[in-house]
Amino acid sequence: MTLYYILLAVQIFAIFFGIFGLVTLFSSMLRPEAKFLLGASICTIIFGVGYCMEMVARSLEAAFLSLCVEYLGLAYIGLFFAIYIEKISGAKKIPRIIWYLIVVYETITLLLHFSSRYHTVFYKSISYVNSGIYPHLEQEMTPWFHLFMVHIAVLVLYGAVNIVRAARRAPSKIRRTQLTRGCIIALFPLLAMVYSAVAGFSGYEPVSAVTLIAVGFFSIVRTAGKTTDPVELAYSESFSKAIAGIIILDSEHRYLDANDKARKIFPELDEYNTGEIFKKWDIFMDACRMNKRLRLYGRYYSTYFYELLADGKSIGFVLGAADVTIMENQVRELERLKVMAEEASEAKTTFLANMSHEMRTPLNAIIGLSELAQREDSLPMIKEYLPMILNSGQMLLDIISDVLDFSKAEAGKVDIVPVQYDIKEVLSTAINMANIRIGEKNIDFIVDVDPKLPRNLIGDDARIRQIIVNFLTNAVKYTDRGFIRFSVDREDKGDNKVDLIIKVTDSGRGIREEDIDKLFTNFSRVDIKNNRNIQGTGLGLAICGRLIKLMNGDYTVESNYGKGSVFTCTIPQEAVGDATISAHQREELHVERNTPFVFDRMDIVGEDGQNKAESEDDILKRCDVLRMLIVDDNVINIKVLTSMLKLHNIVPDSVTSGKDAVEKLEKQQYDVIFMDHMMPEMDGIEATERIRKLDVPWANDVIIIACTANAIKGMDVVFKESGMDEYICKPIKVEALNKMLIKCLELKGLKELKD
Ligand code: ADP
Repeated sequence: MTLYYILLAVQIFAIFFGIFGLVTLFSSMLRPEAKFLLGASICTIIFGVGYCMEMVARSLEAAFLSLCVEYLGLAYIGLFFAIYIEKISGAKKIPRIIWYLIVVYETITLLLHFSSRYHTVFYKSISYVNSGIYPHLEQEMTPWFHLFMVHIAVLVLYGAVNIVRAARRAPSKIRRTQLTRGCIIALFPLLAMVYSAVAGFSGYEPVSAVTLIAVGFFSIVRTAGKTTDPVELAYSESFSKAIAGIIILDSEHRYLDANDKARKIFPELDEYNTGEIFKKWDIFMDACRMNKRLRLYGRYYSTYFYELLADGKSIGFVLGAADVTIMENQVRELERLKVMAEEASEAKTTFLANMSHEMRTPLNAIIGLSELAQREDSLPMIKEYLPMILNSGQMLLDIISDVLDFSKAEAGKVDIVPVQYDIKEVLSTAINMANIRIGEKNIDFIVDVDPKLPRNLIGDDARIRQIIVNFLTNAVKYTDRGFIRFSVDREDKGDNKVDLIIKVTDSGRGIREEDIDKLFTNFSRVDIKNNRNIQGTGLGLAICGRLIKLMNGDYTVESNYGKGSVFTCTIPQEAVGDATISAHQREELHVERNTPFVFDRMDIVGEDGQNKAESEDDILKRCDVLRMLIVDDNVINIKVLTSMLKLHNIVPDSVTSGKDAVEKLEKQQYDVIFMDHMMPEMDGIEATERIRKLDVPWANDVIIIACTANAIKGMDVVFKESGMDEYICKPIKVEALNKMLIKCLELKGLKELKD
């Protein structure tokens, strides 16, 4: 008999051990809360199996044993169910101690039940009756029994209430429906319990069957919902489809698993077998610990890691890496822009200070010298002051022109106007200017022009001259002794296209390597300490750089600090005809100190041997027949222009407003009007429009030339539209005026050239 009990105990132990093993297996695969649902299901099955055994038992002994099996399940069903629902519903948690107390209470009740044959705490009496649908046990219950049943009902009710609460808060409709169904299912076993307690079923108790079916339904609903519930789906896919790369390692840093993104970040993971040491552990940890971006294969990652702990022991690591390359690049770009903005702002401040100083110097000279001249009685002395005043005025004008040019370039209002021009004229002016500037300096000026350079080109000659003059002026400014070498080469590009290669080499102060990049940027004067005594705004090269780029050219600077610099620019032009610069320019031309270098007189003679300079003078002599009117609200401007015209024996009339001009034209015929653009009341544009509408025969014949200080892009169109024929920039220079007068003669058909 003892052996029988031992074997029975072994058998029961084996069953429980098997169940325990199964629960452990499933627990490792399921989310933590699902363990409780598993527990509730197993208890329900035990409860059902026990009841089934009771139904087939044919003796009191057998029936009681079955009842014990039943209670083994029944005792814990409510507990597992309530905990499970509490966990998934996010309800306020009941303190753990209460759960432990319930477990103790249920276990005591279970033991009381097992031993109920020997006492009357649980049942007052227990008997086996052969009545009803089938022979069964009949018990007389004690308060303990009723308390136990009520406690199960309370647990199930607690679960049902939590389900209802969760359903109300559920983020999706699907989840709400699921939970509501769960709540209804949970209520069925309760109803069955109430029904058994109140009515009975001739010995049959439906609670276990109803509970089993309810649990079955509950599981099916949950499983079926898994594919459609977005929350569940998100849980299951958040690892595989995470934006961040996730790698799972064991506590020894051995590779276990990784998601798709991690495989993209660490392509070598494809070669890893489970259990291999993860080799990037060190760099990964360094990045994490130093809170630095991890840089891999040209991309940046923000990293994190955490240790997986089970019962306080490390069982592995989760490593995460999120691609932040775009953000990192943006941050770097912003930092770069910030530095640039700070530099630009500093440069502007220095520039303003510099500019005011630069402008004050010639202005002081002009004012001072003018005052001296005013007080002076002797004509020779006054004449001595005049060139100095002129020189200072020119300096001031250069500075203002630079600022104007620069602001036009900044506003994108610089026009490149391609015309046919003679390169020799451009070079002659630039070389002569440089030579004059060299003046007393101990510098050899060497000019080397490619003899095959096409003479006639199409391009913006004025801008090319400006660039050359700037390079040469700088060379003169920053070279105290030695040489300046100016060379012009060409590179044929086929189809009449040719690259002009302009190079200015000097043996001057040179530029520090770190300053070279700053040269073509706005307002940057470099090496200020050493160049303080030299006039400059730091705008010249910035303007040149923009002009070269606008002409689709390029530039380079090489320099050896203290030894000299080489400024090179390449500008594409179009060649016209086969004429080249004269052959005797082949040899390098050393220009003697203080001897202005000029091209051979013959070289500036036209292809047909006609001397252009002479022709121009001759043509200009014919201007005196033209009747001219100057319209300007500034009398000094009228005086200056009148004096310039007097050089050609022209005696112009003048008025000081647009309105007076219109009235004058009503009465008198003129051939040419110099019309100021900006005038109070009626500006030049309106005056022109009115003149063109006058009912006099000369209204349309008179040539109207806009005089403007505002020669920005697009103004020529405005002038043309208003009826003006030409425009000339203020301050008007004699050379430009002469060209304009020749144009007027052409328009009037008075230019009789032999060509
Ligand atoms: P700036 O009016 O000051 O000469 P630029 O824009 O023409 O303005 O030149 C900018 C700076 O570049 C100058 O201030 C000077 O420091 C440097 N630089 C230009 N050309 C030369 C050169 N040939 N040799 C040495 N430094 C030069």
